[in-house]
Amino acid sequence: MAEKRDYYEVLGVEKNANADEIKKAYRKAAIKYHPDKNPGDKQAEEKFKEAAEAYDVLSNPDKRARYDQFGHAGMSGAAGGAGGFGGFGGGGFSMEDIFSQFGDIFGGHFGGGFRASGGGGGSRRVNRGSDIRIKVKLTLSEIANGVTKKLKINKTIACDKCGGSGAKDAGAYSTCSTCGGSGYVTRVENTFFGRMQTQSVCPACGGTGRVITDPCDKCHGEGTVKGSEVVEIKIPAGVGEGMVLTVTGKGNAARHGGISGDLQVVIEEAPHPELVRDGNDLIHNLNITVTTALLGGTAEVPTVDGRAKIKIAPGTHAGKVLRLGGKGLPDVNGYGRGDELVVVDITIPSKLSAEEKRLVEQLAGQPSFRQADSVKNQNIFERMKSFFR
Ligand SMILES: [Zn+2]
Ligand SMILES: [Zn+2]
Repeated sequence: MAEKRDYYEVLGVEKNANADEIKKAYRKAAIKYHPDKNPGDKQAEEKFKEAAEAYDVLSNPDKRARYDQFGHAGMSGAAGGAGGFGGFGGGGFSMEDIFSQFGDIFGGHFGGGFRASGGGGGSRRVNRGSDIRIKVKLTLSEIANGVTKKLKINKTIACDKCGGSGAKDAGAYSTCSTCGGSGYVTRVENTFFGRMQTQSVCPACGGTGRVITDPCDKCHGEGTVKGSEVVEIKIPAGVGEGMVLTVTGKGNAARHGGISGDLQVVIEEAPHPELVRDGNDLIHNLNITVTTALLGGTAEVPTVDGRAKIKIAPGTHAGKVLRLGGKGLPDVNGYGRGDELVVVDITIPSKLSAEEKRLVEQLAGQPSFRQADSVKNQNIFERMKSFFR
């Protein structure tokens, strides 16, 4: 796939554009590249689709926030594999999607054109099932490596008896009397472009042009029943608390065989007993003994992939930060990996035996253990600096 353009650039708006500006910019682009105005022009069609995709993201506060934070990777690519996240995982929007989702933005400008150019065999599906939101709790190790979860989702599914149509059999229909079978009703109203004829989906038949006279007895004509589906969710490495991944088409089934809603997966982080996340970095507080601090040695620290041994240099101060490069979490957009920061603390024994006391007192008289005046008067900032040396 070609490099994706920035959505703000596609619509020609500023990063801080408000909803109204975005809508106006999209309307302008959609009219300019509308297939009715550019028949047979593949380039215009691509631009038309590109604008719809940009509008779909920027007009939705959730998606826009995710896009602002993670770029295109936050919308699709990162997930990889089948049934990717973000809604455009595959080859982008179809013309049918655009008209069914944003048809209203054109007002009556293109009149009947919007159905004719709806493309793809004159399908008139307009029902869409509702979205489902679920939470998934992940361990740091799952976040570090990415994980595939198989989850059973309770939702409405297509009725197996009627195949989702809601009708008892193929002959159980009659032409809709409200729209005369066209699936659309026309009304005259004042729009952005002046007085216009507006077509909208027929409320009686939902755009199918026909009504069921003999409903399916299992779903009572709805085409959907309560059920469940096991959904495989591929979660990319590096996701964070509160991130929402969208699995297209895995939400509730729609009435009468329409388009299913989406499954939105909200990421939750399970706390780790020894590691704290800070962006893509991890922080561990390590306690060492006074003697290790003085003489140096090794210590074991937890990482997301098990335990690691680290070297403690002789003369290590409390507060010293040891950096384990690349031992943090991978960036969700693939921009490298964070570090693990080990913050050293020194355990001071609170009780000493007589023998220990005698030995420490002996040490206290030695030259290296006398506090130099320069250190005594060091201010807090100088001391902080020395930790990071
Ligand atoms: Zn049924
Ligand atoms: Zn109708």
